[in-house]
Amino acid sequence: MRRVTILGATGSIGQSTLDLIARAPDEFQVVALTGGRNIVQLAKDARRFGAEMAVTACADLLDELRSALAGSGIAAGAGAGALIEAAQRPADWIMSAIVGVAGLTPGLAALEQGTTLALANKESLVAAGPLLLATAARHGARILPVDSEHSAIFQALTGEDRAAVERVIITASGGAFRDRPLGDLAHVGVGEASTHPNWDMGQRITIDSASMFNKALEVIEAKEFFDLDPSQIEVLVHPQSSVHALVGFRDGGLMAHVGPPDMRHAIGYALNWPHRRDLPVARLDLAAIGRLDFTAPDPARYPALKLAWQVMEAGGHAGAIFNAAKERALDHFIAGRIGFLQMSALVARALDHGLVDAPGGEMTLETVRRCDHVTRQQLDRLIVS
Ligand code: NAD
Ligand code: MG
Repeated sequence: MRRVTILGATGSIGQSTLDLIARAPDEFQVVALTGGRNIVQLAKDARRFGAEMAVTACADLLDELRSALAGSGIAAGAGAGALIEAAQRPADWIMSAIVGVAGLTPGLAALEQGTTLALANKESLVAAGPLLLATAARHGARILPVDSEHSAIFQALTGEDRAAVERVIITASGGAFRDRPLGDLAHVGVGEASTHPNWDMGQRITIDSASMFNKALEVIEAKEFFDLDPSQIEVLVHPQSSVHALVGFRDGGLMAHVGPPDMRHAIGYALNWPHRRDLPVARLDLAAIGRLDFTAPDPARYPALKLAWQVMEAGGHAGAIFNAAKERALDHFIAGRIGFLQMSALVARALDHGLVDAPGGEMTLETVRRCDHVTRQQLDRLIVS
């Protein structure tokens, strides 16, 4: 039996992970599940999977969680400290699927127990890549990619000589507004930005896909995961979302990973690694798909994308600044305070500001937190001014 914990169990990735675990009940023992405000779902899953512990990130919901778990013998916890406790419970495999930089501290706590961390939470790698990787190395922990593009790269690299890699191509669906006239983009609303043409995901990453902030995060994530030079990373718009990524080698060969747009493939790959097991995903019918299209992303449509290269060239805490500005701008867009195009404009300005006095020394959780905090305040000031 492998002991598994899911941080962010009530979300889109968390639920897909539980779906796979439910199909192999004899192989997995669920240790801890964490969630946010959806106590009904959290308690239901904790009972169903016989978890040892269930934790809500919301300190004010402890009583509600306790009563939902009454009589089950499952320990209930709430708030930041309890999230860390959940991540510290001995487990063989921990899914990091909290959304946003909020996943960083629990992710670090998981790595400190020397476990395998399946990383869906790209924001923690963008904001604090060097810290996350150093923590993993220090404790003998392993990080496996869950983002579909990064799982694809990881799979394409299996058995290959890393020194022979020339470039990596990440694909992007183009998001909700791929075919919208450019002139409309200033006025698109939260509802339509929250609908993805191919993937069924949480609201925040879906809007980030429409703006391409998600792809900007993924470019930085790829640099950190695979130790690439920024010049080695390319992005192509690929509307069919069948090819998730390609790795180009020095002999001119390209290895493409092709699969259905179903996160259970990448999650299942990380769950079963280093083996491949049956997964309940659709088998691609390439004849039915008929064609695979690739185009270069239009910088006028996706101004957020180029910021990734600015962040990578700046290095240090630039990722923490970028991620915090992006998260805050997204909060404001979702709340209806700013328009869709204002997100990239504001993040670009907050990044320029933040880089001026970014901390230069060693990266610690404290320096990342501070950058995150200061940047959010800066972004709020930019909106008022
Ligand atoms: P989601 O919004 O569906 O779920 C997020 C989870 O995090 C929920 O369990 C929620 O309760 C919890 N959470 C939210 N705020 C929290 C906080 N402040 N503290 C602790 N927990 C909190 O998100 P998702 O779509 O499942 O995405 C999760 C992560 O996986 C993100 O980093 C996302 O970028 C990444 N990812 C998602 C997909 C996808 O298909 N959904 C694909 C690739 C990568
Ligand atoms: Mg992705």
